[in-house]
Amino acid sequence: MLELYERLDAADPLAGFRDEFVIEDPDLIYLDGNSLGRLPVRSAARIREVVGEEWGAGLIRSWNRGWYEAPTRAGDAIAPLIGAAPGQVIVGDSTSVNLYKLVMAALRQQPDRPVLVSDDLNFPTDLYIAQGAIDTLGGGRRLALLRSSDGMTIPTARVLEAIDERVALVMLSHVAFKSGYMYDAAAISARAREVGALVLWDLSHSVGAVPVRLDEWGADLAVGCTYKYLNAGPGAPAFLYVREALQSILDSPIWGWFGEADPFAFDLDYRPAPGVRRFLVGTPPMLSLSAIEPAVEIVRRAGIERIREKSIAMTGYLIERVDARLAPLGFTLGTPREPERRGSHVSIRHPEGYRINRALIEEMALLPDFRAPDNIRLGIAPLYNRFAELHEGVERIARVVQEARFTHFGDERDVVT
Ligand SMILES: *Cc1c(COP(=O)(O)O)cnc(C)c1O
Repeated sequence: MLELYERLDAADPLAGFRDEFVIEDPDLIYLDGNSLGRLPVRSAARIREVVGEEWGAGLIRSWNRGWYEAPTRAGDAIAPLIGAAPGQVIVGDSTSVNLYKLVMAALRQQPDRPVLVSDDLNFPTDLYIAQGAIDTLGGGRRLALLRSSDGMTIPTARVLEAIDERVALVMLSHVAFKSGYMYDAAAISARAREVGALVLWDLSHSVGAVPVRLDEWGADLAVGCTYKYLNAGPGAPAFLYVREALQSILDSPIWGWFGEADPFAFDLDYRPAPGVRRFLVGTPPMLSLSAIEPAVEIVRRAGIERIREKSIAMTGYLIERVDARLAPLGFTLGTPREPERRGSHVSIRHPEGYRINRALIEEMALLPDFRAPDNIRLGIAPLYNRFAELHEGVERIARVVQEARFTHFGDERDVVT
């Protein structure tokens, strides 16, 4: 009689995709694909090709052989994963910088509306960017920060109540980085539209893991990472989305030559490029940018609906194992139980969370990550994770506590946790 996890793996229609990733150590259980996705085999080959042939042999000619269009081409490759018609997504700069460009554009476009709504579940960089934009623009603008009462969720109804005619921009993470809580983005986008506010979704923890329908939701703006569930590599440039109707109305706060109408005319007076290109700034980082398209192609071939289906099955299975095996050892669940309210990671909380996480990494060949004060995040990437890894991973976590292995470690924190 096979174990449940063996039956689930045997019936998994996506099982074959694991072979498309570099897996150096089969015993290592990697549950951090929500922070840095694994390396796709074909991306490694593509990067070698860009270095050797396009840079090494092609030199400057490569700008006319596909490099110049790479930011829009990568954007259009990502677009179907976020429910965007072509021509609304470009890739360039970091998520933080893209947020800055869009937040500044949205606030400046509506000087009579002083309020930017966000929440305390948001990723800190998003809130820093908002604070900085408000500091720069002044004019009585302020950040209205919704606060979670359980550290995990904020009911959508509370967000809807906070959106009125004084609001210029609603800026939220679709899936929260710590708890994995997922908002009802359609309802929030509709409410913003109703009162004339703009809405910006940070899709960093959604893209490649859950279906996103920006056009259908009536969303205005979005940003997101490519190095998490899209597997494009450390520091790969991020994407931004601007709804077509807004592209000629919003202005980037950074007027760089790649966002100019005709960069190679070298005209001394800036004219914004038509369309979403105006949100580009300078020369794109071709080595890391070139890893996006092959990685995104894998996600599209697997199909975001099938990825989501497997993700829900895996997070559900993991939560059952946490209840059965880890709750008796002092862990509590830090992620919503309703599948429609969570993304693709499960947080487990324990007062010794930091030291347990250290022991998992150093002694147990299990890589999750840790988010203060007490969350161990178990990220699930359905393209390469197996149910067997979840079963075994929970057993390794249990052993760390049962054998008191966390006491081998101090509480001094590494720079990156
Ligand atoms: C990962 C993440 C970021 C990262 O931003 P960078 O500028 O790429 O460092 C930003 N926002 C959210 C919500 C994230 O999850």
